[in-house]
Amino acid sequence: MNTERVPRGIDPTKPHPARRYNYWLGGKDNFESDRVSGEAVALGFPTIRIAAIENRRFMQRAVRYLAEEAGIRQFLDVGTGLPSAGNVHEIAQEIDPASRIVYVDNDPIVLVHARALLTSSPQGATAYLDSDLREPERILADPVLHRTLDLSRPVALMLIAITHFLTDEDDAYGKVRTLVDALAPGSFVAVTNATADHLTPEERETVEEANRRSGIPFRNRSREEFARFLDGLELVEPGIGSVIEWRPDAVLENGPTPAQVSMYGAVARVP
Ligand code: SAH
Repeated sequence: MNTERVPRGIDPTKPHPARRYNYWLGGKDNFESDRVSGEAVALGFPTIRIAAIENRRFMQRAVRYLAEEAGIRQFLDVGTGLPSAGNVHEIAQEIDPASRIVYVDNDPIVLVHARALLTSSPQGATAYLDSDLREPERILADPVLHRTLDLSRPVALMLIAITHFLTDEDDAYGKVRTLVDALAPGSFVAVTNATADHLTPEERETVEEANRRSGIPFRNRSREEFARFLDGLELVEPGIGSVIEWRPDAVLENGPTPAQVSMYGAVARVP
């Protein structure tokens, strides 16, 4: 991105998760600071690009499952990221054009690109909220959300590669719980969060050190810590595991390993 034409309210000197993720995915909507941060992580975790791609694939399989098999027609996607191929509404509306999606992100650059997310089919609807997972009450009180989604009916809450940006001081579990508590029975939650569980102790220390250097607070979570996000919910088969093991489209002989991806994923139903 040309740093001479930076939209107002955007600080190109500070790395941001959305732009850094875009860099790992091979996109162009990132600044030097994001690439430096992205490379800092890659030094300690060389398969980060594979992890980003597999995370995105999990999201797409989860949306397809939710729309096709679970009959979900409303989605609340918190931590949307920069528009890329196969956004939530594109997949959901391919299955039912009447699907309704609310996107939420706190990065002003995602807001700048939000037009690309507002390309709903005429039968359905998409909306964008410039809001923060750390302020779930604000998300839930937003009139735009209520114009688009009917919270008295099932919704799929998508939290894909966002909770690891909430540290323990941010009360990640409490924030997620506030959103989950607002969902009607029969709703679903899909989550992914980075983990260091599949790494050796040495690799783990290298990764944590790389994250500390990257300038973006980051919280890997163990399987047990991950499971806490879904306390009281009914796990959809195959439960909690590496994102690559969740209903894969095809099992490749030389496909990535759980360690290379280091990301837990799960989908659960609100009873
Ligand atoms: N869900 C997308 C993008 C993941 S990148 C995908 O999986 O493909 C993580 C996104 O979460 C970024 O766009 C970042 O801006 C956003 N994000 C990080 N912390 C956030 C917060 N506290 N509130 C809202 N969005 C946040």
